[in-house]
Amino acid sequence: MKIGFIGLGNMGAPMARNLAAAGHEVRGFDIAAPVPGGVVPAPSAAGAAEDAEVVITMLPNGDILRAVAGEVIPAMKKGAVFLDCSTVDVESARAVAGQAAEAGLLAMDAPVSGGVGGAQAGTLTFMAGGPAEAFEIVKPLFDVMGQKAVHCGAAGAGQAAKICNNMILGATMIATCEAFALADRLGLDRQKMYDVVSTSSGQSWSMNVYCPAPGVGPQSPADNDYRPGFAAELMLKDLRLARQAAETSGARTPMGAEAARVYEEFVERAGGRGRDFSAILPWLAGEFGNEG
Ligand code: NAD
Repeated sequence: MKIGFIGLGNMGAPMARNLAAAGHEVRGFDIAAPVPGGVVPAPSAAGAAEDAEVVITMLPNGDILRAVAGEVIPAMKKGAVFLDCSTVDVESARAVAGQAAEAGLLAMDAPVSGGVGGAQAGTLTFMAGGPAEAFEIVKPLFDVMGQKAVHCGAAGAGQAAKICNNMILGATMIATCEAFALADRLGLDRQKMYDVVSTSSGQSWSMNVYCPAPGVGPQSPADNDYRPGFAAELMLKDLRLARQAAETSGARTPMGAEAARVYEEFVERAGGRGRDFSAILPWLAGEFGNEG
């Protein structure tokens, strides 16, 4: 397939490289990052989009997505697919999809989970929103870049699934870290706490797969001095998107709002930026010096 790829950062570069390695003709553009091996450099975003059957964007936020879409959509040929894999607000995803449809294009929002490691290994999970016809066209590309793709519904449904999942993740990670910090104070050994909770009703992905306590449970960023992994500021971004979506849709999400507030404090005032999102545990346990 002829593919235009716009946004070649930490995630976009390995995704584009994997598509090129699988034999697709990929033309790439980024305002700052270098074009990875196997990808043909394009002079502009519109230049990457001309002639492409699928244009993939992997950009920082909804405002940038809207700006790039405004430039790229008029350059695309009718019937082509505009595939946004960035994590953005649901409203931007729907606005861009509407604009693409008006121009005679197919549009999908397909944010990912799996992080930079998943992008490099081609094991991402895609959550897709948009017409079934578009999903069928881009499915072979999802198979190259990832190991699972779920068609969640109409435009915006991929972003909705992503922020709902990450709202659960943020809240359960905080709850898990709080429980370890409380266990410490109560003199309960962290390993014993893990042994009980990981096989009891308090279990979760945060406890069982990504345990925030070093030396306990399977290997996780806690065992690597809390280097990300999934950086706390990216979790904050997703929790803010969830909060914004809750406000505009009128959903009641008190725990999600509190999780956003906790990560805001952690990232912006407590030295959490650049650390894994599970570093909430050493912060709550008072191991951040006087910052905690
Ligand atoms: P990044 O900042 O490394 O990459 C974004 C790239 O977009 C940068 O290279 C930047 O130069 C480029 N860019 C910005 N404006 C542009 C424009 N107008 N035209 C062309 N290129 C432009 O970010 P990332 O970590 O690759 O994340 C990309 C998206 O994926 C984000 O929406 C993020 O939330 C999401 N995401 C990231 C992770 C992760 O672990 N990094 C995991 C899941 C989802």
